[in-house]
Amino acid sequence: MLTDAHHRIIDYVRLSVTDRCNLRCTYCMPENMHFVQRKALLTDDEILRLLQTLAAAGISKIRITGGEPFLRPGLMALLEKIKAIPGIREIAITTNGVLTQAYIPALQQLGITHINLSLDTLQADRFLQITRRNRFTAVMDTLQSLLQHNMQVKINAVVMENVNTDELNAFTALTRDNALSVRFIEEMPFNGQGHTFSGIVWNYHKILSTIGENYTLQKIVDAPHSTSLNYHIPGHKGNIGVIPAYSRTFCGTCNRLRISATGSMKTCLYGNDVLNVKEMMRDELQQHLLLPAIQSAIHARFANGFEAEQHHTEKNMESMSVIGG
Ligand code: SAM
Ligand code: SF4
Repeated sequence: MLTDAHHRIIDYVRLSVTDRCNLRCTYCMPENMHFVQRKALLTDDEILRLLQTLAAAGISKIRITGGEPFLRPGLMALLEKIKAIPGIREIAITTNGVLTQAYIPALQQLGITHINLSLDTLQADRFLQITRRNRFTAVMDTLQSLLQHNMQVKINAVVMENVNTDELNAFTALTRDNALSVRFIEEMPFNGQGHTFSGIVWNYHKILSTIGENYTLQKIVDAPHSTSLNYHIPGHKGNIGVIPAYSRTFCGTCNRLRISATGSMKTCLYGNDVLNVKEMMRDELQQHLLLPAIQSAIHARFANGFEAEQHHTEKNMESMSVIGG
């Protein structure tokens, strides 16, 4: 079992399978984002070996993320192999939905039913402003199709001051007739352009109180390790949640590890990379040291995202597409 010095068990890995993306969300990356050469990415074989090692050490849930995961060639075949790893009980995917629709039946066949769809606006012109790409219709078609296939859908909406805060009610209204969850995420300073801020106006309190002006919010008991605070609205089929990603209220129960598409490992979203698993796996002399190295990096994990941030030497320059969300 992978445990840190603060008695937190790590059983969840967020794995980025590509750094590439077909959108350019302003809060995530610059227009001229630099992508690494393909040979710098973990190969399928390396991903499988890594996940086998981690699963044997107690990891049971994998979230596939990116960049945009569906841009990775052969993703479905890779997912099928991940599914077969003993100990992996759940695979979930975070996607922007541009290419996802065509894969829904195959995902369902694999038993992958938990999909987080990133969507920050319900307006086509605003979608173009936020993502710098004209793919709103494709994403909305994916959303409809996911719901028609009874997939477990969570919409991830980053709440940005002066950009989309006037849509909190429209997003909440989506949960009336649709059995989905809309999770409003506090904006974090990871847009790959050194966009720093020392506080946010639209924190989870403000998001909740604004929605509460128009809707009755009843607290739901959150799942253990949930990063979202979730609420039911009487008469609605779905629910809403807020993710205090900037306020970091959930660090005490954090059970996750992040691996980038190039094999960099993070034990905290706000911290430095602590290990490169790809380099270790590609070095015959070091391969057998991989699990002990992961264990000791986890053991040295900071207590929370604020401590990790204080020790972060490349502050705020990263893109979330590299970290994987
Ligand atoms: N491309 C996929 C997508 O957009 O769903 C997966 C990768 S994306 C980096 C994962 C999640 O990170 C998305 O839900 C996105 O909204 C979120 N994200 C990216 N940059 C963020 C930021 N600066 N603050 C908060 N969330 C962010
Ligand atoms: Fe791409 Fe996702 Fe980042 Fe948007 S949030 S640019 S879709 S990786």
